[in-house]
Amino acid sequence: MNNYILPTYNRINLKFINGKGAWLFTKNDKYLDFSSGIAVNFLGHANKKLIKALNLQANKLWHTSNLFRISEQEDLAKMLCDYSFADKAFFCNSGAEATEGVVKIIRRYHYMLGDYNRKNIIVLDNAFHGRTLTSIQAGSNKSHREGFLAKNNCDCGFNRVPSDDINLLEKKINNNTAAILFEPIQGEGGVNTFSLNYFKKIKSLCKKYKILLAFDEVQSGIARTGKMFSHEWYRVSPDIMSLAKGLGGGFPIGAILMTNKISKCMGFGTHGSTFGGNQLACSVALAVIKEVSKKSFLSKIQDNGLFLKEKLEKIKQNYPNLIISIKGKGLLVGIEFKASTEKFCSLAREKKLLLVPAAKNVVRLLPPLNVKKNEIKIAVSVIEKCLEELN
Ligand code: PLP
Repeated sequence: MNNYILPTYNRINLKFINGKGAWLFTKNDKYLDFSSGIAVNFLGHANKKLIKALNLQANKLWHTSNLFRISEQEDLAKMLCDYSFADKAFFCNSGAEATEGVVKIIRRYHYMLGDYNRKNIIVLDNAFHGRTLTSIQAGSNKSHREGFLAKNNCDCGFNRVPSDDINLLEKKINNNTAAILFEPIQGEGGVNTFSLNYFKKIKSLCKKYKILLAFDEVQSGIARTGKMFSHEWYRVSPDIMSLAKGLGGGFPIGAILMTNKISKCMGFGTHGSTFGGNQLACSVALAVIKEVSKKSFLSKIQDNGLFLKEKLEKIKQNYPNLIISIKGKGLLVGIEFKASTEKFCSLAREKKLLLVPAAKNVVRLLPPLNVKKNEIKIAVSVIEKCLEELN
């Protein structure tokens, strides 16, 4: 790599020059992409419908700013609200920006009710919410905070609790608590799911103490798990939610969805973004949502997710010394290993399969949502070969 890029990533020495569906191509090789740019390319690479939507809009109008009406943004907001609990949407450019906006809106909501002390947000262990100053405080990885905050390693304004312990969570709620924020399925933190009961109890605590429920669905949202939003599996809806990653299928866009009740605290001048929700981004996102919201598309994700998990469960039985569990929902799947996964990911890459690590000992499988059964079979056979070698 040349010396002009800030070395914040430990980059793999691979340069892709084009892609098609679930496949990425270097000059000489072909890779099966079960990373999807970290859960982004929902419709694979070089999808014809997305290229058409992008080209159509690119030839008309890219950007005017939010000083003007943007019909593509209005259409996208309506569509996202129609498919969710929400009544209002705000558009930005990334997941961290969306989740940071969620925090702002939560605090402003209580402020406008005259509850000036309600600023603290309860968050979970193993949470990841992005890399802005606020989202590193909401996230649980201490190393992400080191050297960046006024107070050493402070998570000021956030109270962290272990996952799935409802009693401890209730004990943390006090007069300064504004909301509970979490990922319905934790991605970076290791593909962790929660019990149905946990969701129900959290919702009732929010009602009891008049605090807000916020979901970060940046990774788990927009069809990734076979439902439009992963919280639908738990039949518990939030007051506010952040989205990004696959929303633009690779084109940068993030969104905050919220109820009318909350939106009332956010009047003119309270928040903004120059690029957020411009014509180009919204046209592509509209094309993504039109495709992934189809019932047949969603049920195929569920079907393929089960197929993938069943195959992995079978393999797991042969490697009890290496694998602890197979986790996840839909096409957000994790293999939990007994040891670090670095070696496993690089072995898979040698065999032309791209995977993403999560936490210390989990490998994520994040194929495009339109992955074919045959491609799943190829990925599984590579995984099996890697396990054989590791053994
Ligand atoms: N929230 C969750 C749950 C995520 O998984 C991520 C990214 O991995 C983010 C927020 C941050 O998104 P971005 O990298 O687009 O800022």
